[in-house]
Amino acid sequence: MGAPINSITIVGGGTAGWLTALLLQSYFHRTATGDTGKTITLIESPNIPTVGVGEATVPGMPRTLRTAGLSEQEFFKTCNASFKLGVLFANWNVDQAGKQIDYVNPFAGPGVINGIEHGYYYLQYGADGQDFTQVFCPQTDLARAFKGPRALGEKPYTMKVGHAYHLDAGKFANMARDICVARGVRHIREDVVHVEQDERGYVSALQLDQSGRHEVELVIDCTGFRGVIINEVMKEPFISYSKYLANDRALAVQIPHPDPTKIPSMTRSYALGAGWSWRVPLFNRIGTGYVYSSAHRTDEEARDEFVAHLGDTWNGVEPRVIPMRVGRNENAWVKNVIAVGLSGGFIEPLESTAIHMIDTAVRWLATYFPDSDYPEPLRRHYNKLVGSLYDEVRDFICLHYALGNRTDSQYWIDARTELEIPDSLAENLEVWQHALPGAYDLRFDSLFSYGTYQAVLLGKRVYETGFAAPGFMKNLHLRQDLWQGHLQKARAMTNSLVSEMADHHTLLRELRGEDVQPKPAAPNFAMAQPTVGMPGGPLPQIKVAPAPAPAVAADDDDGASLL
Ligand SMILES: Cc1cc2nc3c(=O)[nH]c(=O)nc-3n(C[C@H](O)[C@H](O)[C@H](O)COP(=O)(O)OP(=O)(O)OC[C@H]3O[C@@H](n4cnc5c(N)ncnc54)[C@H](O)[C@@H]3O)c2cc1C
Repeated sequence: MGAPINSITIVGGGTAGWLTALLLQSYFHRTATGDTGKTITLIESPNIPTVGVGEATVPGMPRTLRTAGLSEQEFFKTCNASFKLGVLFANWNVDQAGKQIDYVNPFAGPGVINGIEHGYYYLQYGADGQDFTQVFCPQTDLARAFKGPRALGEKPYTMKVGHAYHLDAGKFANMARDICVARGVRHIREDVVHVEQDERGYVSALQLDQSGRHEVELVIDCTGFRGVIINEVMKEPFISYSKYLANDRALAVQIPHPDPTKIPSMTRSYALGAGWSWRVPLFNRIGTGYVYSSAHRTDEEARDEFVAHLGDTWNGVEPRVIPMRVGRNENAWVKNVIAVGLSGGFIEPLESTAIHMIDTAVRWLATYFPDSDYPEPLRRHYNKLVGSLYDEVRDFICLHYALGNRTDSQYWIDARTELEIPDSLAENLEVWQHALPGAYDLRFDSLFSYGTYQAVLLGKRVYETGFAAPGFMKNLHLRQDLWQGHLQKARAMTNSLVSEMADHHTLLRELRGEDVQPKPAAPNFAMAQPTVGMPGGPLPQIKVAPAPAPAVAADDDDGASLL
């Protein structure tokens, strides 16, 4: 039996490096069994910048922050964070009349009436002009009204309406760094210039440009797209997803809010001529960019198209170009090296999944943490889990393109006709021509629930534009009276929530500690509960004991103080 691993070295100080350090530190130093004595060192280059984007998250993020013992108020203030209630996809499809349409992926899932999915009733009877998501959750209405997911005066981390966050990526990494360092993580700001391997090919030491040799046990490679250790040293093959996904470059820029008191509570994704433009509203600014295919646009063409799209909202700051390596390593864990973050893989950020994947990878690492023998079954299992997570996210992103029906640019035609559809998705698409996505079609711990797939299919109106097989819905007995009753109840609950929930801007000001008048807390409506499991599958493996002695007084309701 191998000896315990006592030292963990993380290389890279972007979101992946610091989030990994934060979560591992929480796991190894704050578990119910006490401090395990493992040392964590993070080495980051003072010369190589971080990617500097990655500002939208998925609904697992509040859990992540709580796991790490962070104060939600400090997080909002430090990271200029805002709430995210879902993603609005604008102009991705056209309806039967050829008019461009929008759809929403909300952080909630549909239900059933008489054992039959809402979606079938919606297709049969419509919903009095409402979008599909409006029949089962309030997120779309809340976002349209510029509302947040809580009333004023509610406890931090209250989750009445499913939500995630938008955050400033640079400030988030800095906040995680400060907390880690205060909690004992060793921080070295130097370049790794050489990697030493032993006779078995394991990494034995890193050569740093100032202080020289740094011995290692377990190495976590968080060096970004280059994969400095996993790819350049360990030579792990990279599986490109380019045959499935065309976008390989992005432009990114920050712009001001047109009206700083009206902060949208959804991420927006606008389809453009050769890709799509994200818009992530933070408290103090908007992060925006254009993810595009270099086979269809040069950087200059993309820049011009993007600036034209921004119109008056552009502040004249030139967008920077980010080349993207899309795909994943064949194995995330090789010998004593584990790649987390962009060094492990990346899928275009249409569903803002990368931070979640870092979080999940670290949870799995903590669960299957090796000893010095690096047992093969653990490594194999971890690699299988990580590989399937990437493939699952890839499938969901491919869905948006495979079912697109725009014909106004070569890019959109190619996205549908030239790109391959992964077998796993193709099989499901064949099923979904006959039946709506259902609970048995995906892995039980799938990040994207079948309800989310339904929201995309129905939002794109594919069943009205030729996707349905003959016989679709023919066996169903759908009682219109039950559906009308449901619509009335759902509308009443949504209206009630929209009036109870706080204006998003005011709510953010309150969370930042600014002076706003609190109203009494809203009653808890059954409809308002998030109806999908938290992404990331089962409950967190990481157990957190109370935070170490806080530097500032901890808020009883908020888990822990920041430092
Ligand atoms: C256009 C775009 C939009 C995105 N949007 C989202 C989003 O909305 N939501 C989301 O979850 N994710 C998003 N992502 C992904 C997200 O940005 C990344 O997952 C996240 O920032 C983590 O990056 P990283 O830490 O792996 O790499 P990086 O930020 O690139 O950090 C790499 C680190 O490694 C260090 N390093 C490199 N080489 C060495 C060396 N030799 N020695 C020492 N240190 C070294 C660097 O100094 C740096 O600190 C987006 C990505 C892109 C490209």
